[in-house]
Amino acid sequence: MFPDSELFAIIEAERERQNTTLQLIASENFVSRAVLAATGSVLTNKYSEGYPGKRYYGGNSVIDQAEELALSRACALFGAEHANVQPHSGSNANLAAYLAVLEPGDTVLGMRLDQGGHLTHGSPVNVSGRWYHFVSYGVSPSDERIDFEALADLAELHRPKLIVAGATAYSRIIEPEPFRRIADSVGALLMFDAAHIAGLVAGGVHPNPVPFSDIVTLTTHKTLRGPRGGCILSTSALAQVIDKTVFPGLQGGPLEHVIAAKAVAFYEAAQPEFAEYAAQIVRNARALAAALAGEGFRIVSGGTDNHLMLVDLRTFDPDLTGKVAQEALDLAGITLNRNQIPGDPRSPFITSGLRIGTAAVTTTGMREREMAEIAHLVRRVLASPGDDRERKAVREEVATLCSKFAPYP
Ligand SMILES: *Cc1c(COP(=O)(O)O)cnc(C)c1O
Repeated sequence: MFPDSELFAIIEAERERQNTTLQLIASENFVSRAVLAATGSVLTNKYSEGYPGKRYYGGNSVIDQAEELALSRACALFGAEHANVQPHSGSNANLAAYLAVLEPGDTVLGMRLDQGGHLTHGSPVNVSGRWYHFVSYGVSPSDERIDFEALADLAELHRPKLIVAGATAYSRIIEPEPFRRIADSVGALLMFDAAHIAGLVAGGVHPNPVPFSDIVTLTTHKTLRGPRGGCILSTSALAQVIDKTVFPGLQGGPLEHVIAAKAVAFYEAAQPEFAEYAAQIVRNARALAAALAGEGFRIVSGGTDNHLMLVDLRTFDPDLTGKVAQEALDLAGITLNRNQIPGDPRSPFITSGLRIGTAAVTTTGMREREMAEIAHLVRRVLASPGDDRERKAVREEVATLCSKFAPYP
């Protein structure tokens, strides 16, 4: 179709991979044809530094309509006073939020990476940990849920300017209310990073952090099922400083084709079917967690309330690492990622756990029955991860299963 057959053959190969293998990475999803169309549209050609009505280049009257639609839909979907849809990614959204309300060296509370937090919540290898004084909180060892008592003590001790809620590998509902209470008790601002759960919030199956937070950041490509990108919601009090920080503070021209696709995603997430989708994601995650527990794996915190679970491999096989498990499953057509579990004795590169998500397979139409089948296939591979014949046999069964649920036939 295009002269560059070399590159387009690669895209075709990736479509084939997505159609024929199981996508269980918790941060991934399959976008609609409408989102694909907007992302691949002529809007990619336009420079539009600035904001609707206040651009630095000419010719933006049409672009303004697309961005305004994205903004009003984002505010309506989450009940926010203000939105900024220009951040190129979730990490950019977080950095913009920090730049807007913090000075270098300010103290911030964030969830530790090995307890489920994100790199941008103060990891020493990330700019957040290099520029700001992050103090980490985590889960309590007994129930592996956020330890709010310890969090309140840390807040009292360190008097942070900002508390960051939200996680990347945590399977329970994150109640925004206790975070607000603790932030208020020490005069801190509250930022809720809803990158993973934005779709669950939009679908009404998780509490909306917006009424409790000064700032909510999110990605549009995880459970929200839109294009790869970020978004910042805030109170109107912070609107100006957030906008100024995103542009010109941090970014140049916005990706208007992606912003248009964000508008499509917000539209889709506001439909009644999306609430049903969000509820099914959680039902599928619970079914998969229960089935994996039945196969001998320990599920961190005993289960899940959202789209993901953390699997502790040590009850199944104390010598099996996350790295070996991930690689063996990959060869069998089951795509997921290794992840540290709370208190993991192994390094983040090796790990004792896996993170498994159900947002993408739920989009393809899979239900509880398929979750049980997936758990069984995972067990077969991990019972003898070096067995090439077994991996090939499972790969065949994965292909048969996926053929009934291909996202892009
Ligand atoms: C995924 C994620 C991000 C970053 O998103 P990118 O688009 O990959 O930069 C930020 N915070 C949390 C909690 C995440 O899970």
